[in-house]
Amino acid sequence: MEKSRVLVVGGTGYLGRRIVKASLAQGHETCVLMRPEIGLDIDKLQMLLSFKAQGARLLEASLDDHRGLVAAVKQVDVVVSAMSGVHFRSHNLLLQLKLVEAIKEAGNVKRFLPSEFGMNPARMGHALEPGRVSFDEKMEIRKAIEEANIPHTYISANCFAAYFVPNLCQMRTLLPPKEEVHVYGDGNVKAIFMDEDDVAAYTIRCIDDPRALNKTIYLRPEENILSQNELIAKWEKLSGKVLEKIPIPSEEFLASIKEIIGKKRLLYSTQRFSTSGWTST
Ligand code: NDP
Repeated sequence: MEKSRVLVVGGTGYLGRRIVKASLAQGHETCVLMRPEIGLDIDKLQMLLSFKAQGARLLEASLDDHRGLVAAVKQVDVVVSAMSGVHFRSHNLLLQLKLVEAIKEAGNVKRFLPSEFGMNPARMGHALEPGRVSFDEKMEIRKAIEEANIPHTYISANCFAAYFVPNLCQMRTLLPPKEEVHVYGDGNVKAIFMDEDDVAAYTIRCIDDPRALNKTIYLRPEENILSQNELIAKWEKLSGKVLEKIPIPSEEFLASIKEIIGKKRLLYSTQRFSTSGWTST
């Protein structure tokens, strides 16, 4: 079977660069969107040039340039978006909807993989703010894809390992705790930790697989399903050091999230009323 030609959008990102690498490694003709907005970002430019040196083609278009985007999409069979889900939320929703519009108009795409790669948003209706908004936005993108009858695959990648494993699931750090570790609830809830290169490799495996057409694919290797207690035990064995366990009861954890949200809202309303002309919503 002939391998699909792939366009990666968001190719210089944390996951996107791995998707470009996986697509090239699995023998796909690989294009990467090069946005003029990168301007003087020398790191991005050099990364794009290194993709080119490895055999990728760079297609120039802005996500705000509908015609340019349609022309880029027409050159491939599959589009994989790995656009940011965190830093520019609402703006990125808009940009991803523009990508959906371009794919709809181009009419040639055999498979679109939107930027999901986390929990399945269809099952996250109970999620709390502030995380909640990214699930809601991912559902809006799904709706647009399905209304436009675009063939798709949604990748559910659970927890990226580098964000959750070395820190033993501690908040606000990526490094291992040295003396004590916060244990959330009873520490026995299982989570699925995925190596980011594996996420990229399986994502590319799915694009030509008819079984993944219009489906959600769950990445969950059995050995990667661990509770926080199991993760801590593995680290203690590796490091040879026993950590002090500080239990954080679920009510306390939820209350601390609500407090952070409250503080953010207060900061937001203070900024709204003290900065003239600041009208962002
Ligand atoms: P990044 O923050 O690394 O950004 C990816 C790309 O998005 C950038 O390289 C850039 O593309 C594009 N981008 C960012 N901001 C803008 C903007 N304002 N306008 C246009 N393009 C923009 O993303 P991640 O790799 O961290 O996230 C990719 C996906 O993975 C998301 O859906 C996210 O939710 C998910 N994720 C899941 C995690 C998990 O634990 N399951 C953890 C982290 C992310 P360009 O290359 O064109 O400049």
